[in-house]
Amino acid sequence: MTNKTLNIIPTFKENVDSFVGKVSKTLNLSEDVMFHIRSTHSVLQVNFGIKIKGKIENFTGWRAVHSEHRLPSKGGIRFSNDVNQDETEALAALMTYKCAVADIPFGGSKGGLKIDPKQYTIDELRTITKTYAEQIIKKGFLSPATNVPAPDIGTSEREMVWIMDAYKNLHPEDINYLACVTGKPIDYGGIRGRSEATGRGVEECIREYFRHPELLKKSNLKTKLSDNRIVIQGFGKVGCSLALQLFERDQAKIIAIGEYNGYLYNEKGIDIIKLNEYFKKTRSFNNFDGATFNTKPKEVLTLDCDILIPAAMESVINRDNVNDIKTTLIFEAANGPVTYNADEILFKKGIDVLPDIYVNCGGVVVSYFEWIKNISHIRFGRLQRRYEENKMDDLIAVIETMTGKSVNAKYKTNIIHGAQEIDLVHSGLEDVMRETFKNILEVKNKFQDQSFRTAAYSIALGKLNKHHSDMGITTIV
Ligand code: NAD
Repeated sequence: MTNKTLNIIPTFKENVDSFVGKVSKTLNLSEDVMFHIRSTHSVLQVNFGIKIKGKIENFTGWRAVHSEHRLPSKGGIRFSNDVNQDETEALAALMTYKCAVADIPFGGSKGGLKIDPKQYTIDELRTITKTYAEQIIKKGFLSPATNVPAPDIGTSEREMVWIMDAYKNLHPEDINYLACVTGKPIDYGGIRGRSEATGRGVEECIREYFRHPELLKKSNLKTKLSDNRIVIQGFGKVGCSLALQLFERDQAKIIAIGEYNGYLYNEKGIDIIKLNEYFKKTRSFNNFDGATFNTKPKEVLTLDCDILIPAAMESVINRDNVNDIKTTLIFEAANGPVTYNADEILFKKGIDVLPDIYVNCGGVVVSYFEWIKNISHIRFGRLQRRYEENKMDDLIAVIETMTGKSVNAKYKTNIIHGAQEIDLVHSGLEDVMRETFKNILEVKNKFQDQSFRTAAYSIALGKLNKHHSDMGITTIV
């Protein structure tokens, strides 16, 4: 008997499988192919002990490969007390569909360690992280060619560089060792723009939505992004960088931001630059002067607003609160924030939900650029930048000589500026976000009564199905 028949709350992986199941029926995909596409191809559990402050502590972690139809399989590593195998498999599956919908040539993977990182010193965390990494490397679940992690909840570029060091120590002969993990610091093979890539990708997706008057009309939104009221849940790597991008580049009015212990509210909009400085120092919203602090964290999701962006964790919009949601548009910056049942209800209410497998793909897009940089052993723009600048300089000199007029200094600087790594990363990210939106909208518009999620999954499943029928289904290992 399944959880569904027993009326038990579905697990994260069951929710993802329900989204897939619904679309596979519409696409008429055969059940045997779907079984293969849905299933986690392999999952490793590691248990290890480390002596900390004189006492042995035991840790459990996972690394799941949902799909290796393209290699490497790609997906973050999460450090949290809530990590478990089902969650890791669900997140790995989302990575497969995400890469497929955004045309990133990777399979899907994910890792996690059951730990509260706040309880440990940096030295302890380094040892724990490196030991976890060694365990998964030795079992073949991490390498530049087959399985490449990145940061997720509770991890950052600091952990990524420790993991890279663990891999390098075990495989010093691998010339591509830098590419064994992405989201690294610049000094250790990282790429400019990776730390804010997911947030900026979400912002690009919101900007693209606002280029479509028919969608704005349907969602009852004001045509200027800055005239709408935005609420964000989560002020971590994704939520904070998204809020900064929206505030600085779009002058967006973010009326509320939620954290695990409460939320800030200011109907006139919160100054995100000031909040970021304050939060970096205090790691808390409490006593921030510029908004009211409310200590009921869940309430942030049910505030009256125009755009709601869950950017913290999964399953936060569910059957308990879905009928209290008072927004007209949702962007899933987190992975899996809306459960399957809640999604059905939101769709019936006419609330557009832009799905995680598209909205937060900016992270893996720029991770892809980082991986390419690492295996090519050269920074993007390094060869051609000065060449382009010199050509443009010559062109302007010709124009000035021919017209007898000089080009305005500001334009001249902009025209001459040759693309550096950060310019190329931003351009590549914008391109993927805009193209993918266009593709999803095209599929959505083909059929009435189709959500953005259904359209995105149709694209992903169509590609996976084609791959499996072209290659033949291999045995699940
Ligand atoms: P993070 O750990 O940097 O930030 C998460 C934030 O959410 C933290 O500040 C935490 O305090 C807060 N939080 C925890 N519980 C909360 C609650 N109940 N209510 C409100 N806030 C709460 O993690 P992140 O990297 O920003 O990831 C956030 C989400 O985005 C996750 O679902 C992750 O899988 C997804 N995601 C992350 C990336 C990436 O590049 N980091 C890429 C794609 C998707």
